[in-house]
Amino acid sequence: MRLVIFTDLDGTLLDHDTYSHAPAAQALAALKAAGVPLVLASSKTGAEMAPLHAELGLGEAPMIVENGAGVLEPGADGAGDAAYRKIRAALDAVPSDLRAHYRGFGDMTDAEVSDVTGLPPEGAALARQRCHSEPGVWSGDDAALARFLDTLDGQGVSARHGGRFLTLSLGRTKADAMREVADRLGADTTIALGDAPNDVEMLEQATHGVIVRNDHGTPLPRLAGEENDRIRRTAEIGPSGWNAAVLALLQDLGATTG
Ligand SMILES: [Mg+2]
Repeated sequence: MRLVIFTDLDGTLLDHDTYSHAPAAQALAALKAAGVPLVLASSKTGAEMAPLHAELGLGEAPMIVENGAGVLEPGADGAGDAAYRKIRAALDAVPSDLRAHYRGFGDMTDAEVSDVTGLPPEGAALARQRCHSEPGVWSGDDAALARFLDTLDGQGVSARHGGRFLTLSLGRTKADAMREVADRLGADTTIALGDAPNDVEMLEQATHGVIVRNDHGTPLPRLAGEENDRIRRTAEIGPSGWNAAVLALLQDLGATTG
């Protein structure tokens, strides 16, 4: 069996409040001992994720960045930003009465991104180093939004709502990136863990999906895979739930030794 694990970060591997992964230490060590690659899959940028990848000692495992819009190899220099430049060019071509209602991270200063995200200023600077997607805030009405999205769609740019942000991309999800990485790593069995709507495609596509309990958001609706336990839910929140679920799955799959 060639097992690869894909995980969301905030509210999943990282605690919602403290951003700590300490409660998952036992399962993280078990993965390392068994030689199972751990692929981080987040809405964060590569610049934001690289320090965590290094801290966790994830070696050669690629990272799924910007909600699946990109895949980053660790240590890759100068990640290509062609997709981001295409999105910004599409924004430049939107009629100005519509464009005026959208303020993307590329239109904001680090301080503004810090304000809208709650990130510290140095974190905001990393969040602005985008290569594949553009989050932003929409301030117009629904009718204008429909015209805005229609105009972008005509240029191959799609949009997804998440929290207070409207994120523009070329349409790839975490599940698309997961399929690409799983193929590249020769995986025949996958586990995906996540806590939010932007994780659902990944959870449904994995051999085994784990919905990690997060008491800060609306619980995910019941997914089809829960009928036959292909998708399970953790009893505990965040990294504590992550730890228990990964240890249990490793045992079930007989993957506890290298
Ligand atoms: Mg999350």
